[in-house]
Amino acid sequence: MRAGAVVKPAPAAAAARRAGAGAHAGARALAQAANGRLERLRRGGAGDAAEQELAAMRKLQRCSVCQERQKDAVITKCWHVFCYQCIDATHTARNRKCPGCGARFGMDDVQRFYYA
Ligand SMILES: [Zn+2]
Ligand SMILES: [Zn+2]
Repeated sequence: MRAGAVVKPAPAAAAARRAGAGAHAGARALAQAANGRLERLRRGGAGDAAEQELAAMRKLQRCSVCQERQKDAVITKCWHVFCYQCIDATHTARNRKCPGCGARFGMDDVQRFYYA
C-alpha cells in the first residue's frame, strides 16, 4: 500500500525502503506466530498443559475455606494454610479446629506470612 504511492525513489531511498519493508515483514511474521500460539492456547492445543498448570497454581494459592481470598496465614499446630479471615472466623466461632485436619488451635498458633 505504501509502495504504490511512491514514484521513482532514489536508489538509496529505495534500498532503505526495502530494508524497512523487510523489517515490517519480519515483525508481521513474529506477530502472526504469536497470534498462532495464542490461538492454540485458546483452543486448548499445545497450551493446554500450561493452562492446567496455571489453574492448579491458582487453586493452590486460594484459601480452601472461602475459595476466594489468597492464603496468607498458617496454623503452626499442623502447618495448614488458609486466609487469615477464615482462620479468625473459625476461632471466633469457638470451633477452633483447623478446617483442614481438625487440629485444635489458638490464635497464638496462627501466623501471617508474606510473599517477598
Ligand atoms: Zn478464606
Ligand atoms: Zn490442619
